[in-house]
Amino acid sequence: MGNLLSVVVSVYNEEAVLRQFYGEAKKVLTAIDWDYELLFVNDGSRDKSLEILQELAAEDAHVKIVSFSRNFGHEAAMIAGIDYSKGDGIICMDADLQHPPECIVQIADKLDQGFEIINMVRTKNESAGWFKNLASSAFYKLINLLSDVKFENNASDFFAVSRRVAEVLKVSYREKVRFLRGYVQNVGFAKTTISYEAGIRAAGESKYSIRKLLQFSVNTIICFSNLPLKLGIYAGIMAAFLGVVVMVYTLFTRGGAPSGYATIVVLNCFMFAILFLIVGIMGEYMSILFAELKDRPIYIVAETKNIDCRERKILPEGQDFAAEKRKEADAGFGGHCD
Ligand code: UDP
Ligand code: MG
Repeated sequence: MGNLLSVVVSVYNEEAVLRQFYGEAKKVLTAIDWDYELLFVNDGSRDKSLEILQELAAEDAHVKIVSFSRNFGHEAAMIAGIDYSKGDGIICMDADLQHPPECIVQIADKLDQGFEIINMVRTKNESAGWFKNLASSAFYKLINLLSDVKFENNASDFFAVSRRVAEVLKVSYREKVRFLRGYVQNVGFAKTTISYEAGIRAAGESKYSIRKLLQFSVNTIICFSNLPLKLGIYAGIMAAFLGVVVMVYTLFTRGGAPSGYATIVVLNCFMFAILFLIVGIMGEYMSILFAELKDRPIYIVAETKNIDCRERKILPEGQDFAAEKRKEADAGFGGHCD
């Protein structure tokens, strides 16, 4: 087909693998018959990642850099990559070679066949360890149970989308607290999956701590489900039912209410526990609402390299979603060019 393929790579303290990644990706990209751009998003790395990227960009015009003013997180980096990409197909992947660059060949094939969303599903994840793997599958079970939208199990941050889908993501999914994979799976369009084996990290270390993953899971559940908010109603009905039973029991037991300090204390603690839990859940929703309300930028770009915002690709009529909203989105993504 020979269109432009954008490979978006999020980079946070990856000095140890960057050159190796570049070498392997380059090999694959020059072999396929798509033109390509390798768009690295430097997510506020504190090591030599940016210097390495700048060296690569100076030698190779295919290498483009968007560099954040500080660390904004992996998702923000992917969003920025999608915002700045110009390709007819866009692939998001990690820099640590856990997402094998060889898969790009299959992805380009699927794009050629007209698929617009390609989810890469990992068959096994060697480096994550049993706990992360178990937690990950438990998370997908839970979110599928709670949410109306259905998620692919073990979907990873490795995916590809068409220009049309990228425009939808760029214009319409600008939530501050978000789950990009979730949106990608739920915008519709012709969708397919490719499975791959997540290898071990080539070098460097994982940036996702268990705490970060937990917070991420809670946020995702809140973003995709209102069920936890209804917990209060169910708890209220249950408490009312319990109250009636106890009332009937006390009224009709001969000798009046049974005495019992322990019962009262236990029941009190139990009821308050439920109450505070529900208040906590409401608090979580409120904090997300608050973040949306404040409407702070998803990321701030400090500098770019080899990127020219003027040569922007506009979709043909009919496919050009929310043209007038684009200006707004442009303002939102900083619109920084070198
Ligand atoms: N990453 C990022 N910002 C962050 C954390 C990670 O851009 O705040 C990048 C990181 O450089 C890597 C990818 O996201 O390319 C995945 O991170 P990591 O390999 O640490 O996660 P894991 O594979 O262990 O889930
Ligand atoms: Mg990794």
